[in-house]
Amino acid sequence: MCVDACPEHILHITKGLVALDPEAGECTFCGECAAACPEGVIAADGAMAHVMQISDDCLVKAGIACMTCRDVCPETAISMRPRIGGPFLPELDATSCTGCAACSAACPADAIHAVERVPENV
Ligand code: SF4
Ligand code: SF4
Repeated sequence: MCVDACPEHILHITKGLVALDPEAGECTFCGECAAACPEGVIAADGAMAHVMQISDDCLVKAGIACMTCRDVCPETAISMRPRIGGPFLPELDATSCTGCAACSAACPADAIHAVERVPENV
């Protein structure tokens, strides 16, 4: 029921269970999945069990200026650090990241991916 309720189509059935694909699109935390669940099992605290990380595939690493991820992040979790001799580098503050995936959905280089929300990643 949650899969059908999600307006962003980021929930799928995998091996008979519901799974979230954090790279299929952005979670807007609309709460439709939780509202549709007759068992009340979906946490609605506005954070996922993952955070995002920016990989070396980022266009900036190749000297191409880009601030797309910074511009779309609703939590202002991505900032651009000035550096000598190249475009500003994006930095992602995992402690502010909800895992909504707005950044990964918008990244033109497919450079942002989800990792588990564990102390070494936050
Ligand atoms: S949107 Fe992608 S390519 Fe652009 S700065 Fe962010 S990580 Fe780099
Ligand atoms: S997943 Fe969402 S909150 Fe986290 S950095 Fe990307 S856009 Fe910002």
